[in-house]
Amino acid sequence: MRTPVIAGNWKMNMTVDQAIELVKGIHYGYKNPGQVDVVVAPPSTSIHPVAQYLKDSHISVAAQNMHWEESGAFTGEISAPFIKDAGADYVIIGHSERRQYFKETDKTVNKKMHSAIKHDLIPIMCVGETLGEREDGRLQDVIQRQVMDGLDGIESFAATDIIIAYEPVWAIGTGKTATSEQAEEVHSFIRSLLHKIHDTKKANGIRILYGGSMNSKNAAELLALPNIDGGLIGGASLVASDFIDIIRS
Ligand code: PEP
Repeated sequence: MRTPVIAGNWKMNMTVDQAIELVKGIHYGYKNPGQVDVVVAPPSTSIHPVAQYLKDSHISVAAQNMHWEESGAFTGEISAPFIKDAGADYVIIGHSERRQYFKETDKTVNKKMHSAIKHDLIPIMCVGETLGEREDGRLQDVIQRQVMDGLDGIESFAATDIIIAYEPVWAIGTGKTATSEQAEEVHSFIRSLLHKIHDTKKANGIRILYGGSMNSKNAAELLALPNIDGGLIGGASLVASDFIDIIRS
């Protein structure tokens, strides 16, 4: 039985004060630990204050990105040990916006995955095809490359230490959600890839989230699918009541 994960990706939104307000709303509104792993990913300026606020709660904190090196001359970057030190336990890696605007590749995603695991952060590794790739019939090739290259050489971990998020690029922030059939097809394909590289227990234990315009209206249907183990939510995670509704779904 995989514990579902509901993770909110706040992207480049929320000042420190706004972040605390939002997390207060989520914390007060959702008090039912145990059934769902709830994670919020504020901008890096708010990781520490949000983590401090949530210290004894059942809500965890994620960074939205990281560098693979531990420290050094990488102006503007933060590394896994810094993220841990700030109080986060998760990190989003390879989000399509990072791949698109900051030229992240499967190779850099893989380096970040290795570093995250080494430093005890749970990576949420994002994969997903563009509309053009889907229309050209390259969906499976793209997903296979992103999953296999992203996880290359990653062996000694527990199943719950890695999360994959399938986020079709054409569904992110567009209001267009994958249909249940489209989502389940890709999720079960990802599960089959995991079975090729890991033993049955591990391959069955890794959580695979859906992301892409998930909201309080469509969440229940998507989350009921056998291989969808939760959601990575952008826009709808910025309103406490919407995020709580998704958690309840
Ligand atoms: C995301 O950015 O990970 C995402 C899924 O965004 P949205 O929910 O806004 O589509």
